[in-house]
Amino acid sequence: MSSYDLIVIGAGPGGYVCAIRAAQLGLKTAVIEGRETLGGTCLNVGCIPSKALLHATHNLHEAEHNFAKMGLEGAAPTVNWAQMQAYKGDVVGQNTGGIEFLFKKNKITWIKGWASIPAAGQVRVGDETYTAKHIVIASGSEPASLPGLTIDEKTIVSSTGALSLDKIPARLAVIGAGVIGLELGSVYARLGSEVTVIEYQDKITPGMDGDVQRTLQRILSKQGLKFIMGAAVQEATVDETGATLRYKLNKSGEEATLAADTVLVATGRRPYTDGLGLADLGVAMTPRGQIQTDGHYATNVAGIYAIGDAITGPMLAHKAEDEGIAIAEILAGQAGHVNYDIIPGVIYTTPEVASVGATEEALKESGRPYKVGKFSFMGNARAKAVFQGEGFVKLLADKETDRILGVHIIGPAAGDLVHEICVAMEFGAAAEDIARTCHAHPTFSEAVREAALACNSGAIHA
Ligand code: FAD
Repeated sequence: MSSYDLIVIGAGPGGYVCAIRAAQLGLKTAVIEGRETLGGTCLNVGCIPSKALLHATHNLHEAEHNFAKMGLEGAAPTVNWAQMQAYKGDVVGQNTGGIEFLFKKNKITWIKGWASIPAAGQVRVGDETYTAKHIVIASGSEPASLPGLTIDEKTIVSSTGALSLDKIPARLAVIGAGVIGLELGSVYARLGSEVTVIEYQDKITPGMDGDVQRTLQRILSKQGLKFIMGAAVQEATVDETGATLRYKLNKSGEEATLAADTVLVATGRRPYTDGLGLADLGVAMTPRGQIQTDGHYATNVAGIYAIGDAITGPMLAHKAEDEGIAIAEILAGQAGHVNYDIIPGVIYTTPEVASVGATEEALKESGRPYKVGKFSFMGNARAKAVFQGEGFVKLLADKETDRILGVHIIGPAAGDLVHEICVAMEFGAAAEDIARTCHAHPTFSEAVREAALACNSGAIHA
């Protein structure tokens, strides 16, 4: 019976990062993964393949819509879907292989198979039982569906199926205007599908700043995505030609149908803990099926911890990674910590959307006095050069102290720009600190500085 200081169950961003940090800190570490490859949802069927398809189709969009404006003439490329899928597979392979390399480098044992926990301190895979001082569950999540809909990964697909469709559908219905629905909806709209997004709520990307929600919906509509808002999907019927969705409008109660070749169900994800034996062990769960943990990722069973999508908090790869580092440090006797107030969220559409900290709506509700510094990318020379003048940086700061409370960006490279504000917030910076920092010209980041200037004495290029 092999024994370890730490056994991690699941090799997604939470689990693999936890294992690497634990090994770096001297713990004898093994990772058990049921999938054939390392990297979990994120690398195999999530963040990475979706970004590969977004990158490829963004380039197609540029060729079709913007190349000629720059004097780059000639026919726009045609789509070889099989080759685009091969490119996506290659990107995934390079990344999952990279984790395998890191495991070898850090002397982490990779045990292949599905794990269960027969008792605290023991992990079972097939006929083998392993012992460990500590067990970290990083089993992740799976796509959620709706009553009345059966995901068959052919006509009615989850995000996993949508990343590998046999062919580009002429009509794609997307249920759910969240991050995954909008990213994959954008991919297929750029590939020529007629994309209709049906959303239960009245606004897209629930929870985001209202200004961003409205602007993103307007821009995506211009890009050809259609939206049916405030509509509850009742059921889907499937035949050889595709699917028909029956939905009800929340306000009027009116019913209608939508026909599509493919339906993407993007209504969220739920924690995946099947087969671990948590109920028999008496591990406490939340009402939403997440593993319940304390502030140090400990479950109510001694020696068993949990992180990532399987516990509460935003279902994001970087949140899972940070928790992986924190728990490894805690188990090695250090003070691991995650600042949940400063976890950025990004949507990789064009333009990108990124935000961190409080939304204006949340500040209004809390009654905290705040000020807004907003700067349009129309005043940013670099953004105009790449046809991305639409969008803005909206910086929120405390009215009295000027301390930065949040930022909401829609525009070019928003997913990178947001980190300047993450660092500023970690250091408790004021808007004036950003405003007084020299930003290189011409960069998109000048828009962040201008928003900071707009918080106080005024932006220059507005
Ligand atoms: P996972 O990545 O889900 O990994 C869990 C692993 O555990 C899996 O490989 C599973 O096989 C394994 N496992 C489960 N049970 C067992 C068991 N009993 N025995 C052995 N192995 C087991 N997040 C972002 O931050 N940015 C993005 O751009 C982004 N894009 C996304 C796009 C899509 C289409 C999807 C679906 C998700 C996206 N996400 C994104 C979310 C991100 O993928 C997840 O938040 C992240 O993968 C969670 O990491 P995790 O380690 O908790 O779990």
